[in-house]
Amino acid sequence: MQGLMMDMPLLVSSILEHATRHHGDAEIVSRRVEGDIHRYTYADLNVRARALASAFTLQGVAVGDRIATLAWNGYRHLEIYYGVGGMGAVVHTINPRLHPEQIAWIINHAGDTHLAFDLTFLPIIQAIAPLCPGVKSWIAMVDGDRQPSVAGLELVNYEELIASGDSGYRWPELDERTAVGLCYTSGTTGNPKGAMYAHRSTVLHAYAAALPDAMGASARDSVLPVVPMFHVNAWSIPYVCPLVGAKMVFPGPNLDGKSLYELFEAEGVTYAAGVPTVWQGLLQHLRSNKLRFSTLTRTVIGGSACPPAMIDAFRIEFGVDVIHAWGMTEMSPLGTLSRLQLKHLKLDENAQRQILAKQGHVVFGVDMKIVSDDMADLPWDGSTPGNLLVRGPWVIREYFRGEGGDPLVYDADGRGWFPTGDVATIDADGYMQITDRSKDVIKSGGEWISTIDLENLAVAHPAVAQAAVIGIAHPKWDERPLLIVVKQPGAEVTREELIEFYKGKVANWWIPDDVQFVEAIPLGATGKILKTKLREQFRDYQLPQ
Ligand code: AMP
Repeated sequence: MQGLMMDMPLLVSSILEHATRHHGDAEIVSRRVEGDIHRYTYADLNVRARALASAFTLQGVAVGDRIATLAWNGYRHLEIYYGVGGMGAVVHTINPRLHPEQIAWIINHAGDTHLAFDLTFLPIIQAIAPLCPGVKSWIAMVDGDRQPSVAGLELVNYEELIASGDSGYRWPELDERTAVGLCYTSGTTGNPKGAMYAHRSTVLHAYAAALPDAMGASARDSVLPVVPMFHVNAWSIPYVCPLVGAKMVFPGPNLDGKSLYELFEAEGVTYAAGVPTVWQGLLQHLRSNKLRFSTLTRTVIGGSACPPAMIDAFRIEFGVDVIHAWGMTEMSPLGTLSRLQLKHLKLDENAQRQILAKQGHVVFGVDMKIVSDDMADLPWDGSTPGNLLVRGPWVIREYFRGEGGDPLVYDADGRGWFPTGDVATIDADGYMQITDRSKDVIKSGGEWISTIDLENLAVAHPAVAQAAVIGIAHPKWDERPLLIVVKQPGAEVTREELIEFYKGKVANWWIPDDVQFVEAIPLGATGKILKTKLREQFRDYQLPQ
């Protein structure tokens, strides 16, 4: 027997329709590349997104076509999310921090037919246009009177494009499995691979992300995503905010501590989200200028491990709760978030801190487990590390164009799981803690050493700004940890002091054999430490005997 409920497809256009009808006057505030602050509402967004969909339709864009963006967080980028996605085409967000050749490779692989860009990225467009013959129009997202002209390259103006469309356009009732977004993995090894999101997966993910023990956003929030819309849809905040009716605040290209802080204060931001490296700049700005947040109450931090020292700084110094989250491009991205449960409220502060420092609990929709290399399930005891596998309706089943073959691994019941490439422990309450990427974990004397744990401890030292740990080949132990440190500006610390700092905090055999001080640690396009680069840099390095 079938249920007798209406069969309504889950579509991103319905999120925008809901926001327009029920939160039509909620604000969207953007710092523009033009330099000024732009403000309008969800109702205005809908009018322009419809006009954009109509204009693209007139240009011959059809369901399934890929439209690329090279853009900051801002209202025009949001219009493209909804205009392009709503009409059944695919928004392909590209990370502008990649090399131009890699960007061109991705555009050609995706088969993008149009590309919209913020003016900041005009030099990239000039470099890649000759390499991307499939792109029919390059669209400058800027006011008409600021439209640049470039010799040998015809640029379309975004505002003129919108003006050519009809805001009376009606969103089509698509199959909910229709593709809506495409995002390539950062591809630290090999070519990047595309994760293709569907309307259904995106709407389900947004519902889950909005739950109180996930991101917990509401119509009383003013939300500022620092995490870029070119990195896994800014963790789905562009879908979560209209779904709950929250005010949105976009920082545009200005991501330094001062600009962010000013925007937080001016727009009453209550909720923010970003990777740990961004918050370092913000915290430094607050400390050196003796500033406080007047409205910010919580921030989601993920993308790489958030050091407990940063969680403490936010909470103790600035009264802001950190929600530590874990996910990946292939998971839309949310997998787990760390929030306390009723039974944890009676624990002492230190025990609560330890829970909140973990990557956290799954949201309903994601199933996870840890397994050994031969796929045997490992215990949830909080100490046995294993390969982390996931499954769920917003986890990919294959990459775009079947790249890399079948990515899944199969259990004894024939169910497919996505291998995350992360190594983790899971405790009896289901809280997951990442110990490493599987290729970064240090194997020493047959045991594993977590580089994330060692890095988290190092950055708790007041003289350490940034830390990375890599394994160095060792004749007896296979590998031993080397700590690489960037000092805080003006601070001094010695190798011996740092090694001493570890004593009593980890098992003796985990303590790094040596410390190297560097000016900077290489970061990848999404703000993660590039360990491959570091390993290359220290290839000839010899550990002290
Ligand atoms: P990406 O697809 O670029 O977002 O990268 C996903 C990877 O980032 C994950 O597989 C993890 O290795 C890492 N990652 C994301 N969030 C966290 C976190 N909170 N702690 C540790 N690693 C993380």
